[in-house]
Amino acid sequence: MKILDLISAIEVFAAPELQEDYDNAGLITGNSDWECSGVLCSLDVTLEVIKEAKTRNCNLIMSHHPIIFRGLKRINGNNYVENIIVEAIKNDIALYAAHTNLDNVLLGVSGMIAKKLGLQDIQVLQPKNRLLRRLITFAPVNKAEEVRKAVFNAGAGHIGQYSECSFNSEGTGTFKAEEGADPYVGEIGKQHQERETKIEIVYPFYLESQVVKALVQNHPYEEVAYDIFTMENMHLGIGSGVIGKLEAPMEEMRFLELLKDRFEAKGIRYTGLLGKSIQKVAICGGAGSFLIKKAIKNKADIYITGDVKYHEFFDSEGKIVLADIGHYESEQFTVELLCDLLLKKFPTFAVLKSSVNTNPVNYLG
Ligand SMILES: [Zn+2]
Repeated sequence: MKILDLISAIEVFAAPELQEDYDNAGLITGNSDWECSGVLCSLDVTLEVIKEAKTRNCNLIMSHHPIIFRGLKRINGNNYVENIIVEAIKNDIALYAAHTNLDNVLLGVSGMIAKKLGLQDIQVLQPKNRLLRRLITFAPVNKAEEVRKAVFNAGAGHIGQYSECSFNSEGTGTFKAEEGADPYVGEIGKQHQERETKIEIVYPFYLESQVVKALVQNHPYEEVAYDIFTMENMHLGIGSGVIGKLEAPMEEMRFLELLKDRFEAKGIRYTGLLGKSIQKVAICGGAGSFLIKKAIKNKADIYITGDVKYHEFFDSEGKIVLADIGHYESEQFTVELLCDLLLKKFPTFAVLKSSVNTNPVNYLG
């Protein structure tokens, strides 16, 4: 098993192209060609986690938070980030992070929290637009199915719970092969008319190179005509935070107690209760203050996140209960998510869950 194989298992679920501009998700140390002895999954990389990887014979650590985030100019071991990089390199340990790309998929970091709370009808709270593209191409009628299939196999044609989506219409294509051409049909120097199927298929932007490659390789023409358009549509499966519903409404305080229990939160900071029951729940794992307004707009009864600042609590405006359960607490199930994704693809491989609690925050009870 190569490190690349394990990375691929994560990236088919959360493409690296889905990370935010400021992020640094991906392989940080090590080489994807290395043979992998075992993978240790953790929320953060600390010296203790590196030590654990060594002891448990893992040369790959997959974490949620990338240890190098803002960039490094020197590696002298003068701070914890530099120290960890030095230790990882000295011990031939590869460090890989699935960060905002894992946040931005429906059943990623926040979706996992929603599942842990038993929410139903889970949707992305703030979907992103301009991620989808439309491919339009033209193939001889009797070759259309072959071309369509190839493009579907490259990952195109998925809309919600449907696959192999396309629109097809027939018409006449014309072309005249010039000297030096090797036409599939028609003669050099003579205009040819061919009954063609116009095929339209949607795909997310990060599949573009494989989609176009599949098209060109499986199309009979020497010169394949195709158009690509960026769509303004929202991608409902990609974006920040999630929103879902509890099976039955719960009294506010009881729900907060459920949160405390489920997340083993030592303290939950929350805004004034509104005296109504909780059913619609918005969630963003990690630092999610940027979605408070969106949660209100979507009529959530409560918004659960971490890292909320004093003034941001006021943004709840008495319209929603805002609950800060802690950054680490909110994202703790991400370790399980990483393990699940790896084990689904490689059920017998050494996929280990770190036993280190990397939370840098303590609570004095
Ligand atoms: Zn985080």
